[in-house]
Amino acid sequence: MKEKIGFIGLGNMGLPMAKNLIKAGYTLQVYNRTASKADELEQTAVTVCNSPEEAATDVQYVVTMLSEDGILEEAVSGEKGLLKSLKQGAVHISMSTISPETSVKLNALHQQNGSHYLTAPVFGRPEAAAAQKLWICTSGNSSIKEAAKPILESMGQGVVDFGEEPGNANVVKIAGNFMIMASMEMMAEAFTLGEKNGIDPKKMADFFGSTLFNAPIYQNYGKLIANKQYEPVGFKAKLGFKDARLAFTLAQKSETPMPMAAIIHNRLLTAIAKGQGDKDWVEGFGHGVTDDAGL
Ligand code: NAD
Repeated sequence: MKEKIGFIGLGNMGLPMAKNLIKAGYTLQVYNRTASKADELEQTAVTVCNSPEEAATDVQYVVTMLSEDGILEEAVSGEKGLLKSLKQGAVHISMSTISPETSVKLNALHQQNGSHYLTAPVFGRPEAAAAQKLWICTSGNSSIKEAAKPILESMGQGVVDFGEEPGNANVVKIAGNFMIMASMEMMAEAFTLGEKNGIDPKKMADFFGSTLFNAPIYQNYGKLIANKQYEPVGFKAKLGFKDARLAFTLAQKSETPMPMAAIIHNRLLTAIAKGQGDKDWVEGFGHGVTDDAGL
C-alpha cells in the first residue's frame, strides 16, 4: 500500500483519475461538492471528506481537478480551503485547465504557507483518463516535479515538462485546447461542405484520418463530428468556452493576434446562448456548423 493522497474534484475527469491512483496502490482522502460521487470509488481505499481543508489534512500530496479558476481558488484559500490544513513541505498538484495568472497567484500563496504548488494540466477526454492515457504537462520547482512523478505517471501515458515558471504548463494547455477547438471548427466546416455536396462525411473522416490527417485529434474528434455522435458528454461546452476565453484573454494580454480564437469563442458562446452549455463541446462545433448550413 502506498501513501495517502488528498483528491479534490470527482467530475468527468477527476473520477477516472482517482480510480487510477487507487489502482496504483494509493489511498485517497476525497472531497467533492456532491459527496455521492465517491460511491463509485473502491470504498476500502477512500475516506470521504467534508471540505478541501479536511481532504488536505496529514497528506504530502493533494490533487485538485476542479472546473475553473474561481472554484479552484476557493478550494485553496477559501474559508475551508486546503491551505488551512496543508502541512509545511506538502505539495498541491493542480491539474485543472486554468489561467497562468491563477497559477502564479496560488504558487505565491503556497510559498507563504510553506507548501508547494505544482502545475500539471492534462490532455485527453474522460475515456483517455480511464485508460491511463492522459498527456500531462508540468511546470514548477524541479525537485518537486521529480518527487511527484510517480503520482502523475499513475494517471497518464506521459509527463512533459515546460520549466520552472508556475504558469508555463497552463499556457501550453490553453494553446493546445485552442488547436483542438480550431481543428473541430475546421473539420465541422469541411464535413458539412462534403455533406451538402453529396459526400458521406463519415467516409471523409475515415479517409482524412487515415491519410493526410493521421493524428489522434483528427481521428477521434473527426469521427465524433462526422457521426454527429455527441453523447455521452465528456467535456461540457461551457468548460470549452472557459478555455476559449482563457485563450482569448491570454492573446489580448500578450498582444498576440489570434483571429481563429474569436471564431471558436463565438461558436461556443452561441452554444451557451442557446442553452447548450452542458452538452459536449463537440456538439457545440458539429451542430453549430450544420445548423448554420441549414442541415
Ligand atoms: P466536470 O464539470 O465534470 O467536474 C468539475 C468538478 O468541479 C466537479 O468535481 C465539481 O463538483 C466541481 N465543481 C464545479 N463547480 C463547483 C463549485 N461551485 N463548488 C465546488 N466544486 C465545484 O469537469 P471535468 O470535465 O472533470 O473538468 C475538470 C477540469 O479538467 C476542467 O478545468 C477542465 O477544463 C479540465 N479538462 C477536462 C477534460 C475533459 O475532457 N472533460 C480534458 C482535459 C482537461
